[in-house]
Amino acid sequence: MTSQFQTLLIEKDEAGKQRVDIRRLDEDALPDGDVTVQIEWSTLNYKDALAITGRGPIVRKFPMVPGIDFAGTVVRSTDPALSPGDQVVLNGWGVGEKHWGGLAGRARVRADWLVPLPDGLSTRQAMAIGTAGYTAMLSVMALERGGIRPNRGPIAVSGASGGVGSIAVMLLSRLGYTVEAITGRSEEGAYLTALGAAAILPRDEFTQPGKPLAQARWAGAVDVAGGRVLANICAGMATGGVVTACGLAAGMDFPVTVAPFILRGVSLIGIDSVYCQRERRITAWNRLAELLDPHLLDTMTTEIALADVPDAACDLMDGRIRGRVIVNTG
Ligand code: NDP
Repeated sequence: MTSQFQTLLIEKDEAGKQRVDIRRLDEDALPDGDVTVQIEWSTLNYKDALAITGRGPIVRKFPMVPGIDFAGTVVRSTDPALSPGDQVVLNGWGVGEKHWGGLAGRARVRADWLVPLPDGLSTRQAMAIGTAGYTAMLSVMALERGGIRPNRGPIAVSGASGGVGSIAVMLLSRLGYTVEAITGRSEEGAYLTALGAAAILPRDEFTQPGKPLAQARWAGAVDVAGGRVLANICAGMATGGVVTACGLAAGMDFPVTVAPFILRGVSLIGIDSVYCQRERRITAWNRLAELLDPHLLDTMTTEIALADVPDAACDLMDGRIRGRVIVNTG
């Protein structure tokens, strides 16, 4: 017997116009996969907002259930590694882009896309972290692999009030780094200080064309903005500094010179959460479970229902969302 589930569905009409609705579907409609999951929580990430508003070419085939991540409980599995009742998390692998995603009550996916829910985390907390928080952890791990320890100097975090930025600020501060939060929202200063930022830097300082090399200010940086913001961060890195780049909130282009790389030995490390290897994902999730303060995580999380997602997606695109948005898919 199959059951029905509620889902968000993105469809395109013959004229190419996109529409997003709430639907009830039969479980038989789910795509192929070894594991069927009862989704308890999903989230709204930047990429989901691009897909749902149609402002970015994220969805590769229609109709599509959006949602690049989810957490829930296995209900059926043909893979011996997973059994009904196991709690799991999924991030990326093209889910919500080319394979039906997490903004639904059920999903069917490949077993090797799922990671076990870390001990000590609920499915709700896992999605309060979501792909944004997992990407923040991957960025911090890249700084560590680059030899950046707290005694090397301050770390800049751009897009600090957003999902990746907020969790990066929280993680870095918890690990003992001095964090300088770059934000376009001066009104979020108290929020960022509560997450652990030692200084708040106005985004305006980073959006104008800058010099090839500026005063050396940071040992490391977690950038979610791309564009001129990333270029100006690179120009302000100290000798041997490490910059991680994961996003494009300020744009795809990257008007930088080679000066920071050849005169200060700066490294730029790209972060791809979607196809990140499984061992590194598991390490990232276990470290998130250890490091994050559940109370602080709660203060940066807003809960919404599936029906609220289209409006929230517009708010996120317009920079009106602080921290993380979790979606109750029930
Ligand atoms: P959010 O929308 O939650 O946060 C983005 C933040 O960027 C905003 O809150 C804002 O912070 C800042 N921002 C917005 N517009 C601009 C602008 N024009 N110039 C500079 N900064 C701006 O998104 P997420 O944190 O979920 O994602 C951030 C980026 O990271 C996105 O581009 C996303 O696609 C990318 N990403 C990439 C992943 C990967 O695997 N590579 C995985 C996850 C996310 P403030 O107001 O504080 O300045």
